[in-house]
Amino acid sequence: MAGGEHDEMTCRELVELVTDYLEGMLPEPDRVSLEAHLAECPYCEEYIAQMRRTVDTLGRLPQEPIDPAREEELLEAFRGWRVTRRPPGRRNGA
Ligand SMILES: [Zn+2]
Repeated sequence: MAGGEHDEMTCRELVELVTDYLEGMLPEPDRVSLEAHLAECPYCEEYIAQMRRTVDTLGRLPQEPIDPAREEELLEAFRGWRVTRRPPGRRNGA
């Protein structure tokens, strides 16, 4: 890599790498940046702690990082969406 700039990881980058990190698949340089960010960012520290708990519970990583409670809300919304949305071109001729 060119340049001697210090790579600072953003919260968004951390979230994108968290799966690899928890699976131990993250390359060393990325892992170092991630842990450096964790040391300074309580939000991401809490986020990782939550992910670890999820993995503990499920025995695996969720496909997307998401709160179980929020996931249920989303599923409800999807169900509602399916019911509400009618196929186009088919009207009720009341
Ligand atoms: Zn952060």
